[in-house]
Amino acid sequence: AMQRYASLRDLPATTKDGVTIGLLMNAGLMADLPSLVGSGAEGVGLFRTELQFLVRNYMPRREELAALYTRVIEAAKGRPVAFRTLDIGSDKVLPYMKPQDEPNPAMGWRAIRVGLDKPGVLRMQLQALIRASAGRPLAVMFPFVSEHAEFVDARAHVLRELHREKSLGHAVPSALEVGAMLEMPSLAYAPDAFFQMADFISIGGNDLKQFFFAADRENERVRKRYDTLNASFLTFLQFIVARCAATGTKLSFCGEDAGRPVEAVAFAAIGLRNLSMRPASIGPVKALLRRVDLAEARRVIDKARSDGAETVRPALTAYLDGLGE
Ligand code: PEP
Ligand code: MG
Repeated sequence: AMQRYASLRDLPATTKDGVTIGLLMNAGLMADLPSLVGSGAEGVGLFRTELQFLVRNYMPRREELAALYTRVIEAAKGRPVAFRTLDIGSDKVLPYMKPQDEPNPAMGWRAIRVGLDKPGVLRMQLQALIRASAGRPLAVMFPFVSEHAEFVDARAHVLRELHREKSLGHAVPSALEVGAMLEMPSLAYAPDAFFQMADFISIGGNDLKQFFFAADRENERVRKRYDTLNASFLTFLQFIVARCAATGTKLSFCGEDAGRPVEAVAFAAIGLRNLSMRPASIGPVKALLRRVDLAEARRVIDKARSDGAETVRPALTAYLDGLGE
């Protein structure tokens, strides 16, 4: 499949009506790094740092992590990388951490909730990221942020570690961006101050959809019941786009749905301009985006919604099926 899209690799994802969509890749393991060049990704929109914790049977130390992050940054060759801090708990259980006996782990003590309550590992990870980024830009994002106050606290950890590194006389990153994943509906309704404080926001569509529909992402039976192109969900995503536009906050989408071509067109049509996906999806998504008139796709979506369609998928696929080359 990669072969088929190789000719597109160095071309932009520009639609027929001239809108360019940034296509980035999701990564997490060293094995993903060669795809950075091979896929034509403009950067790493989501680096899942927990994967490196999950493939070990011991807690990695700061120096080991810093060396790993340096390799990631070097493989990116100047392209941006958004490092997501440890997203553990729920489905991602570290073998060397005490298991929590929680009735509902997906909504339990996980991700940034752990990081804020027991900040030792978070701080160690931030130190490793800061060291690995010495003299280069660093982008950190926090998973599972539910409210503004959590983001304020998480961001304060970054600033504190940065200050500490400086006072130790270490080289620090040349620029710093601190962002949040938006994967809880509550965060979409945070005060403007949150959107102003966040340097960027990335929609974690996997969890956002799970919590929007109260449908377990691990449970095929209920997950498949709700289409990502459900009119209500798209309208909600559009609300997030509007909030970010109002505050000038950079926005991307990094859930698995970004890598599905029809979904990618819908997201672009409602205003998303950066999509992050598994590397193998970049070719197919780009190929379709380049054939689409985005304003027309938007009219199709709007009409389906005003007609009361539950999902805009039939109307949108009918439009896409009728496209020329
Ligand atoms: C998401 O929730 O959409 C996301 C990108 O993060 P993860 O799949 O790792 O939870
Ligand atoms: Mg998530």
